[in-house]
Amino acid sequence: MSTISKKICLFGDFGVGKTSLIRKFVECQFSDEYLSTVGVKISRKLVNVSTKYLHDGQNLQLLIWDIEGSNKFKAVAQNYFQGSKGAVIVGDVTQPETLNHIGEHIQTFLAVNPKSYIVVALNKSDMIASEYLENIREMYQFTNQINILDTYITSAKTGNNVDEIFRTLAHRLI
Ligand code: GDP
Ligand code: MG
Repeated sequence: MSTISKKICLFGDFGVGKTSLIRKFVECQFSDEYLSTVGVKISRKLVNVSTKYLHDGQNLQLLIWDIEGSNKFKAVAQNYFQGSKGAVIVGDVTQPETLNHIGEHIQTFLAVNPKSYIVVALNKSDMIASEYLENIREMYQFTNQINILDTYITSAKTGNNVDEIFRTLAHRLI
Protein backbone atom coordinates (compact mmCIF):
# COMPACT_ATOMS: atom_id res chain seq x y z
CA MET A 1 0.00 0.00 0.00
CA SER A 2 1.32 3.42 -0.87
CA THR A 3 1.82 6.03 1.82
CA ILE A 4 1.25 9.72 1.39
CA SER A 5 2.44 12.43 3.78
CA LYS A 6 0.51 15.51 4.83
CA LYS A 7 1.44 18.33 7.12
CA ILE A 8 -0.96 19.48 9.81
CA CYS A 9 -0.49 22.11 12.53
CA LEU A 10 -1.66 22.36 16.12
CA PHE A 11 -2.16 26.01 16.97
CA GLY A 12 -3.51 27.86 19.98
CA ASP A 13 -2.54 29.88 23.06
CA PHE A 14 0.25 28.90 25.44
CA GLY A 15 -0.65 26.13 27.90
CA VAL A 16 -3.90 24.93 26.31
CA GLY A 17 -2.54 21.41 25.79
CA LYS A 18 -1.24 21.32 22.20
CA THR A 19 1.90 19.36 23.06
CA SER A 20 -0.10 17.06 25.37
CA LEU A 21 -2.68 16.26 22.66
CA ILE A 22 0.07 15.36 20.20
CA ARG A 23 1.85 13.25 22.80
CA LYS A 24 -1.34 11.40 23.66
CA PHE A 25 -2.08 10.72 20.00
CA VAL A 26 1.44 9.75 18.93
CA GLU A 27 2.82 8.07 22.08
CA CYS A 28 -0.36 7.28 24.06
CA GLN A 29 1.12 9.12 27.03
CA PHE A 30 0.17 12.03 29.26
CA SER A 31 2.17 13.96 31.85
CA ASP A 32 1.12 16.69 34.28
CA GLU A 33 4.50 18.35 33.94
CA TYR A 34 4.76 21.27 31.63
CA LEU A 35 7.23 20.47 28.88
CA SER A 36 7.81 23.80 27.23
CA THR A 37 7.95 23.66 23.46
CA VAL A 38 10.93 25.61 22.21
CA GLY A 39 10.35 26.87 18.70
CA VAL A 40 8.53 24.21 16.75
CA LYS A 41 8.45 20.44 17.17
CA ILE A 42 7.42 18.03 14.43
CA SER A 43 6.02 14.58 15.25
CA ARG A 44 5.05 11.82 12.84
CA LYS A 45 2.26 9.31 13.00
CA LEU A 46 1.11 6.77 10.47
CA VAL A 47 -2.65 6.35 10.25
CA ASN A 48 -4.75 4.11 8.04
CA VAL A 49 -7.77 5.85 6.64
CA SER A 50 -10.46 3.67 5.16
CA THR A 51 -13.36 4.86 3.05
CA LYS A 52 -16.03 3.06 1.11
CA TYR A 53 -14.04 3.78 -2.07
CA LEU A 54 -10.75 2.38 -0.75
CA HIS A 55 -11.30 -1.12 0.61
CA ASP A 56 -7.75 -1.55 1.95
CA GLY A 57 -7.68 2.01 3.15
CA GLN A 58 -4.87 4.43 2.51
CA ASN A 59 -1.80 4.88 4.67
CA LEU A 60 -1.31 8.48 5.62
CA GLN A 61 1.77 9.79 7.36
CA LEU A 62 0.76 12.81 9.43
CA LEU A 63 3.53 15.33 9.99
CA ILE A 64 2.26 17.15 13.06
CA TRP A 65 3.69 20.61 13.74
CA ASP A 66 3.34 21.97 17.28
CA ILE A 67 3.08 25.78 17.07
CA GLU A 68 2.67 28.39 19.79
CA GLY A 69 0.03 31.07 19.21
CA SER A 70 0.88 33.63 21.89
CA ASN A 71 1.48 37.22 20.75
CA LYS A 72 5.22 36.83 21.03
CA PHE A 73 5.21 34.10 18.37
CA LYS A 74 2.40 35.30 16.14
CA ALA A 75 4.58 36.73 13.39
CA VAL A 76 6.81 33.64 13.33
CA ALA A 77 3.88 31.23 13.50
CA GLN A 78 2.65 32.23 10.06
CA ASN A 79 5.93 31.06 8.50
CA TYR A 80 5.41 27.61 10.00
CA PHE A 81 1.94 27.29 8.47
CA GLN A 82 3.23 27.12 4.88
CA GLY A 83 2.18 23.95 3.09
CA SER A 84 -0.14 22.75 5.83
CA LYS A 85 -3.22 20.85 4.67
CA GLY A 86 -5.02 20.99 7.99
CA ALA A 87 -4.97 22.39 11.50
CA VAL A 88 -6.27 21.61 14.95
CA ILE A 89 -7.00 24.92 16.71
CA VAL A 90 -6.88 24.34 20.46
CA GLY A 91 -8.47 26.21 23.37
CA ASP A 92 -8.64 25.37 27.09
CA VAL A 93 -12.12 25.12 28.66
CA THR A 94 -10.69 26.25 32.02
CA GLN A 95 -9.31 29.50 30.52
CA PRO A 96 -12.08 31.40 28.70
CA GLU A 97 -9.70 33.90 27.11
CA THR A 98 -8.01 31.06 25.20
CA LEU A 99 -11.43 30.11 23.79
CA ASN A 100 -12.05 33.71 22.75
CA HIS A 101 -8.80 33.65 20.75
CA ILE A 102 -9.84 30.62 18.67
CA GLY A 103 -11.61 32.70 16.03
CA GLU A 104 -8.53 34.85 15.57
CA HIS A 105 -6.25 31.79 15.33
CA ILE A 106 -8.52 30.33 12.65
CA GLN A 107 -8.22 33.51 10.59
CA THR A 108 -4.44 33.64 11.05
CA PHE A 109 -4.14 30.07 9.78
CA LEU A 110 -6.60 30.46 6.89
CA ALA A 111 -4.84 33.63 5.73
CA VAL A 112 -1.85 31.42 4.86
CA ASN A 113 -3.76 28.28 3.82
CA PRO A 114 -7.23 29.32 2.63
CA LYS A 115 -8.09 25.82 1.33
CA SER A 116 -7.03 23.87 4.41
CA TYR A 117 -9.38 22.12 6.80
CA ILE A 118 -9.69 22.88 10.49
CA VAL A 119 -10.89 20.99 13.54
CA VAL A 120 -11.44 22.88 16.81
CA ALA A 121 -10.43 21.15 20.07
CA LEU A 122 -11.81 22.48 23.36
CA ASN A 123 -9.31 20.76 25.62
CA LYS A 124 -9.03 19.82 29.34
CA SER A 125 -12.62 18.56 29.42
CA ASP A 126 -11.68 16.35 32.39
CA MET A 127 -11.49 19.51 34.55
CA ILE A 128 -15.05 20.75 33.94
CA ALA A 129 -18.35 19.20 35.08
CA SER A 130 -19.87 17.41 32.11
CA GLU A 131 -23.16 19.35 32.25
CA TYR A 132 -21.33 22.53 31.17
CA LEU A 133 -19.39 20.98 28.31
CA GLU A 134 -22.15 20.77 25.73
CA ASN A 135 -22.94 24.47 26.30
CA ILE A 136 -19.31 25.40 25.78
CA ARG A 137 -19.19 23.30 22.60
CA GLU A 138 -22.24 25.06 21.21
CA MET A 139 -20.70 28.47 21.88
CA TYR A 140 -17.59 27.63 19.85
CA GLN A 141 -18.97 26.00 16.72
CA PHE A 142 -17.60 28.17 13.86
CA THR A 143 -19.54 26.02 11.39
CA ASN A 144 -20.48 29.10 9.38
CA GLN A 145 -17.09 28.62 7.71
CA ILE A 146 -16.86 25.75 5.22
CA ASN A 147 -13.27 24.92 6.16
CA ILE A 148 -14.23 24.10 9.75
CA LEU A 149 -15.06 20.41 9.99
CA ASP A 150 -16.18 20.13 13.60
CA THR A 151 -15.65 21.18 17.22
CA TYR A 152 -14.69 18.52 19.76
CA ILE A 153 -14.48 18.51 23.53
CA THR A 154 -11.13 16.82 24.23
CA SER A 155 -8.88 15.72 27.06
CA ALA A 156 -5.23 14.89 26.57
CA LYS A 157 -5.36 13.42 30.07
CA THR A 158 -8.18 10.89 29.62
CA GLY A 159 -7.82 10.61 25.84
CA ASN A 160 -11.40 11.80 25.28
CA ASN A 161 -11.82 12.53 21.51
CA VAL A 162 -8.06 12.72 20.92
CA ASP A 163 -8.03 10.09 18.14
CA GLU A 164 -11.22 11.61 16.74
CA ILE A 165 -9.75 15.07 16.09
CA PHE A 166 -6.80 13.64 14.17
CA ARG A 167 -8.92 11.04 12.33
CA THR A 168 -11.51 13.63 11.28
CA LEU A 169 -8.75 15.71 9.73
CA ALA A 170 -6.93 12.72 8.22
CA HIS A 171 -10.10 11.55 6.55
CA ARG A 172 -10.45 14.88 4.72
CA LEU A 173 -6.84 14.89 3.58
CA ILE A 174 -7.15 11.68 1.55
P1 GDP B 1 0.83 23.75 25.19
O1 GDP B 1 1.57 24.98 25.66
O2 GDP B 1 -0.42 24.15 24.45
O3 GDP B 1 1.69 22.82 24.39
O4 GDP B 1 0.32 22.99 26.50
P2 GDP B 1 0.89 21.64 27.18
O5 GDP B 1 0.53 20.44 26.37
O6 GDP B 1 2.31 21.79 27.53
O7 GDP B 1 -0.01 21.59 28.51
C1 GDP B 1 0.05 22.62 29.48
C2 GDP B 1 -0.34 22.05 30.84
O8 GDP B 1 -1.68 21.58 30.82
C3 GDP B 1 0.50 20.83 31.26
O9 GDP B 1 0.71 20.91 32.65
C4 GDP B 1 -0.36 19.64 30.91
O10 GDP B 1 -0.10 18.54 31.76
C5 GDP B 1 -1.76 20.20 31.15
N1 GDP B 1 -2.77 19.59 30.27
C6 GDP B 1 -2.75 19.51 28.91
N2 GDP B 1 -3.85 18.91 28.44
C7 GDP B 1 -4.61 18.60 29.52
C8 GDP B 1 -5.89 17.95 29.69
O11 GDP B 1 -6.59 17.56 28.75
N3 GDP B 1 -6.34 17.81 30.98
C9 GDP B 1 -5.63 18.25 32.05
N4 GDP B 1 -6.15 18.06 33.27
N5 GDP B 1 -4.44 18.87 31.93
C10 GDP B 1 -3.93 19.04 30.69
MG1 MG C 1 3.67 23.09 23.85
